[in-house]
Amino acid sequence: MISKLNNKELDQKIKSLARAENRLLAIVIEHIKEADRRRLYLDFNYPNLYDYLVKECGYPGGSAQRRIDAARLLAVEPKLKAKIESGEINLSQTTLLQKAFRAKKVTPEEKRSLIAKICDRTVTESQVIISKELDLKIKATTKETHQKDGSVRLEVTFTREEWESLQKAKDLASNATQTNDLPTLIKYLSDKFIKQKVGSTATVAVKKQVLQRDQCCQHKDPHTQRLCGSRWNLHIDHIKPKWAGGTDDIENLRVLCQKHNHCIYRQQSGVRFSS
Ligand SMILES: [Zn+2]
Repeated sequence: MISKLNNKELDQKIKSLARAENRLLAIVIEHIKEADRRRLYLDFNYPNLYDYLVKECGYPGGSAQRRIDAARLLAVEPKLKAKIESGEINLSQTTLLQKAFRAKKVTPEEKRSLIAKICDRTVTESQVIISKELDLKIKATTKETHQKDGSVRLEVTFTREEWESLQKAKDLASNATQTNDLPTLIKYLSDKFIKQKVGSTATVAVKKQVLQRDQCCQHKDPHTQRLCGSRWNLHIDHIKPKWAGGTDDIENLRVLCQKHNHCIYRQQSGVRFSS
């Protein structure tokens, strides 16, 4: 019974299981390599190894791809099996390598040398080593994609200084944000800044009155006029925003749930929703 183990035994058990997991993983990779060589997927009527692993073997897409990346690398460097077994190299690293090798053509010998160089390194360290060794181009343009639910996908490059500053902010804000998620951090910092600039001057007493009056989210569906009515995570919202001259009068305040507050905020800040 696991609950009967003392802390030392539990620690030992987890470590030995982790080792067993790595050993098993190395064996899985070895077999996938062989399946790749034989094109086993054709026998099962799949166009490629990925589909076979996902649809026939039940791997989630990302896990299947990582295993394929490792298997293809193992075909180049037989020593990789031992490194996966020992935990010197993990699948995040082999996937980084394969991604880089797809972007830049390198000889098998260069591949082997890079594998050796990222042994026992963290994923971040490996990334730096790989891009240095392969002299990968530094991408600096920001890519912004607006998605159908109004969300925005960004591909951004930070300078080392900008990144360090962001990491520091992340650490300092971690108690408040409770997450490592970058969008959450940026939202948190933005909200703080906006509050500082625009200021919510509504007093606690007024806010309390609004909450007592509204009690739930007052957002109305524009088509059916149905009230949202959520009582979860309520915020006080200015009907006419402060920056547009709205006041802190109780008539200009209403209760919104976090979702609708966020949604109205986005509309007001002019982020266009692509339909
Ligand atoms: Zn709502």
